[in-house]
Amino acid sequence: MPEPDAEPNLILIIDDSADTIRLLSGMLKDQGQILFATSGEMGIQLAQSRQPALILLDVEMTGMNGYEVCTALKADAATKECAVIIITAHTGMDSEIRALEAGAVDFITKPFNPPVVRARVQTHLRLQQHTAMMRQLANRDGLTGLYNRRCFDESLAQEFERHRRQHSPLALALIDIDHFKAYNDHYGHPQGDVCLQRVATAIDTVARRPGELVARYGGEEFVIILPHSDTHGARKYGERLCEVVRNLQLAHQASETADQVTISVGVASLVPSVESTTLQLIALADQALYQAKAAGRNRAIVSTRP
Ligand code: GH3
Ligand code: MG
Ligand code: MG
Ligand code: MG
Repeated sequence: MPEPDAEPNLILIIDDSADTIRLLSGMLKDQGQILFATSGEMGIQLAQSRQPALILLDVEMTGMNGYEVCTALKADAATKECAVIIITAHTGMDSEIRALEAGAVDFITKPFNPPVVRARVQTHLRLQQHTAMMRQLANRDGLTGLYNRRCFDESLAQEFERHRRQHSPLALALIDIDHFKAYNDHYGHPQGDVCLQRVATAIDTVARRPGELVARYGGEEFVIILPHSDTHGARKYGERLCEVVRNLQLAHQASETADQVTISVGVASLVPSVESTTLQLIALADQALYQAKAAGRNRAIVSTRP
């Protein structure tokens, strides 16, 4: 899975001194929304649940110290994108190097110089916004906002390995809009784009379990990765997808299948073995999709092969 996006302009202060938290909050109040935690353990939990863009982290704390907290934040996929600025009363190369080695992006020394603190925070909030934008461009499809093919390929490879280790079934649903060329011919390409966006949003609402990833596979085709899903679960999923698209009730006068836009879905599930590959799983879903088309479209077919 791609890492979750950080919450823009959300700043988390982790410091065991209430005075320091008060002082920093006062300096930064117009730069973003501020959360605080008075221990490293609490700070990590808050970072996991809220994904702040920036964390100001005190080094000298009872319990976990700042370096340990920073190392833990960077090792966790849920928090590794948060930028961490380490705060310490110690000046000197050693503490600076330790902070950077723990994965911090910057370093602020006490006593605070307010303009310096504000400038550093501003710089890192801006950098975080740029990073989020770059990630959006790299992982998302421009037209539909779904994950793109590149992101799907990467995620599928990762999930395949994970399911192989866990001896657990991994399923794919391959989705293709029925008679879409005729839709474009009849309603025009711009309206075709709108239709793609509507269908994309509808199928995205079906994917709600953690780890499920919905991507635009190409053209008028979409794909969903379904972790820990056997053929029984995947069949119900495929039927639900057909249903939500029918429920959109988008008129399609040029369709031979129905008077509204419909999709066909091919579903396949397998427990990855040492020999099996992602290409096999995709091929099985593709064969099932072909059968759904041949059987009259507007339906989901599950691959019966291993
Ligand atoms: P079937 O029911 O067998 O799936 O037939 P189909 O017409 O949907 O399939 P075909 O592969 O012949 O046509 C797919 C069409 O999707 C052709 C192409 O112009 C259109 N298409 C692909 N990408 C886009 C897009 O980004 N926007 C629009 N408007 N159309 C697109
Ligand atoms: Mg302290
Ligand atoms: Mg197609
Ligand atoms: Mg099609």
